[in-house]
Amino acid sequence: MTDCIFCQIAEHKMSAKIAYEDDEVVVFHDISPQAPVHLLVIPRKHIARISEMDAGDAKLVGHMIYTAKQQAEKFNLANGYRLVFNNGREGGQHVFHIHLHLLGGRPMHWPPG
Ligand code: 5GP
Ligand code: ZN
Repeated sequence: MTDCIFCQIAEHKMSAKIAYEDDEVVVFHDISPQAPVHLLVIPRKHIARISEMDAGDAKLVGHMIYTAKQQAEKFNLANGYRLVFNNGREGGQHVFHIHLHLLGGRPMHWPPG
Protein backbone atom coordinates (compact mmCIF):
# COMPACT_ATOMS: atom_id res chain seq x y z
CA MET A 1 0.00 0.00 0.00
CA THR A 2 1.58 3.26 -1.12
CA ASP A 3 0.19 5.38 1.73
CA CYS A 4 1.34 2.99 4.46
CA ILE A 5 4.51 4.07 6.27
CA PHE A 6 5.46 0.51 7.25
CA CYS A 7 5.08 -0.71 3.65
CA GLN A 8 7.37 2.17 2.68
CA ILE A 9 9.93 1.12 5.30
CA ALA A 10 9.73 -2.50 4.09
CA GLU A 11 10.35 -1.30 0.51
CA HIS A 12 13.24 0.96 1.63
CA LYS A 13 11.33 4.01 0.38
CA MET A 14 11.32 5.52 3.85
CA SER A 15 14.33 5.36 6.16
CA ALA A 16 14.46 3.33 9.35
CA LYS A 17 17.22 1.77 11.42
CA ILE A 18 16.85 -1.79 10.17
CA ALA A 19 18.12 -4.58 12.44
CA TYR A 20 17.18 -7.58 10.28
CA GLU A 21 15.28 -8.46 7.13
CA ASP A 22 14.48 -11.50 5.04
CA ASP A 23 11.99 -12.35 2.30
CA GLU A 24 9.04 -12.25 4.67
CA VAL A 25 9.74 -9.77 7.47
CA VAL A 26 11.63 -6.59 8.34
CA VAL A 27 12.80 -5.60 11.84
CA PHE A 28 13.61 -1.99 12.69
CA HIS A 29 14.08 0.22 15.74
CA ASP A 30 10.99 2.09 16.95
CA ILE A 31 11.31 5.85 16.35
CA SER A 32 10.03 6.54 19.87
CA PRO A 33 11.52 3.75 22.02
CA GLN A 34 9.68 2.82 25.21
CA ALA A 35 12.53 0.62 26.50
CA PRO A 36 16.31 0.39 25.96
CA VAL A 37 15.54 -2.12 23.19
CA HIS A 38 12.33 -1.42 21.25
CA LEU A 39 12.11 -3.14 17.89
CA LEU A 40 9.18 -3.57 15.52
CA VAL A 41 8.81 -6.77 13.51
CA ILE A 42 6.63 -6.31 10.42
CA PRO A 43 5.65 -8.56 7.54
CA ARG A 44 6.40 -7.32 4.03
CA LYS A 45 2.78 -8.20 3.26
CA HIS A 46 0.33 -5.44 4.19
CA ILE A 47 -2.14 -6.72 6.78
CA ALA A 48 -3.90 -3.82 8.51
CA ARG A 49 -4.50 -5.41 11.90
CA ILE A 50 -4.34 -8.81 13.58
CA SER A 51 -8.14 -9.04 13.42
CA GLU A 52 -7.86 -8.94 9.61
CA MET A 53 -5.51 -11.94 9.41
CA ASP A 54 -6.80 -14.95 7.56
CA ALA A 55 -5.83 -18.57 8.19
CA GLY A 56 -3.18 -18.37 5.48
CA ASP A 57 -1.35 -15.64 7.42
CA ALA A 58 -0.79 -17.82 10.51
CA LYS A 59 2.58 -19.15 9.36
CA LEU A 60 3.78 -15.63 8.54
CA VAL A 61 2.79 -14.34 11.98
CA GLY A 62 4.54 -17.34 13.54
CA HIS A 63 7.65 -16.34 11.62
CA MET A 64 7.32 -12.80 13.02
CA ILE A 65 7.30 -14.24 16.55
CA TYR A 66 10.25 -16.53 15.87
CA THR A 67 12.14 -13.59 14.35
CA ALA A 68 11.48 -11.55 17.50
CA LYS A 69 12.88 -14.40 19.61
CA GLN A 70 16.04 -14.44 17.48
CA GLN A 71 16.43 -10.66 17.74
CA ALA A 72 15.97 -10.86 21.51
CA GLU A 73 18.95 -13.21 21.62
CA LYS A 74 20.96 -10.89 19.37
CA PHE A 75 20.19 -7.91 21.63
CA ASN A 76 21.11 -9.87 24.80
CA LEU A 77 17.64 -9.91 26.36
CA ALA A 78 18.22 -13.17 28.22
CA ASN A 79 16.62 -11.73 31.39
CA GLY A 80 13.28 -11.35 29.63
CA TYR A 81 11.36 -9.20 27.21
CA ARG A 82 7.83 -8.38 26.14
CA LEU A 83 6.15 -9.05 22.79
CA VAL A 84 3.04 -6.98 22.01
CA PHE A 85 0.54 -6.73 19.17
CA ASN A 86 -1.79 -3.77 19.63
CA ASN A 87 -5.00 -4.41 17.69
CA GLY A 88 -7.40 -1.64 16.69
CA ARG A 89 -7.80 1.84 18.14
CA GLU A 90 -8.97 0.73 21.56
CA GLY A 91 -6.15 -1.79 21.60
CA GLY A 92 -3.67 1.07 21.24
CA GLN A 93 -2.86 0.56 17.57
CA HIS A 94 -1.79 3.70 15.69
CA VAL A 95 -0.13 2.30 12.56
CA PHE A 96 -2.44 0.05 10.58
CA HIS A 97 0.10 -2.44 9.22
CA ILE A 98 0.59 -5.25 11.74
CA HIS A 99 3.73 -5.01 13.83
CA LEU A 100 5.07 -6.96 16.76
CA HIS A 101 6.70 -4.81 19.43
CA LEU A 102 9.81 -6.36 21.05
CA LEU A 103 10.56 -4.46 24.25
CA GLY A 104 13.41 -5.25 26.61
CA GLY A 105 16.33 -4.02 28.65
CA ARG A 106 14.27 -2.93 31.67
CA PRO A 107 11.74 -4.61 33.99
CA MET A 108 8.22 -4.65 32.52
CA HIS A 109 5.12 -3.95 34.59
CA TRP A 110 1.68 -5.54 34.66
CA PRO A 111 -1.07 -4.54 34.02
CA PRO A 112 0.34 -2.63 31.03
CA GLY A 113 -2.19 0.24 31.14
P1 5GP B 1 1.20 1.02 17.63
O1 5GP B 1 0.80 2.15 18.53
O2 5GP B 1 0.50 1.11 16.29
O3 5GP B 1 1.12 -0.34 18.24
O4 5GP B 1 2.75 1.20 17.36
C1 5GP B 1 3.27 1.99 16.34
C2 5GP B 1 4.72 2.22 16.66
O5 5GP B 1 5.35 2.68 15.49
C3 5GP B 1 4.93 3.27 17.75
O6 5GP B 1 5.67 2.71 18.81
C4 5GP B 1 5.68 4.38 17.03
O7 5GP B 1 6.66 5.00 17.82
C5 5GP B 1 6.29 3.66 15.83
N1 5GP B 1 6.45 4.47 14.64
C6 5GP B 1 5.50 5.28 14.09
N2 5GP B 1 5.98 5.85 12.97
C7 5GP B 1 7.25 5.38 12.81
C8 5GP B 1 8.26 5.62 11.83
O8 5GP B 1 8.08 6.35 10.88
N3 5GP B 1 9.44 4.98 12.02
C9 5GP B 1 9.67 4.13 13.06
N4 5GP B 1 10.88 3.57 13.13
N5 5GP B 1 8.74 3.89 14.00
C10 5GP B 1 7.54 4.51 13.88
ZN1 ZN C 1 1.51 -1.53 4.94
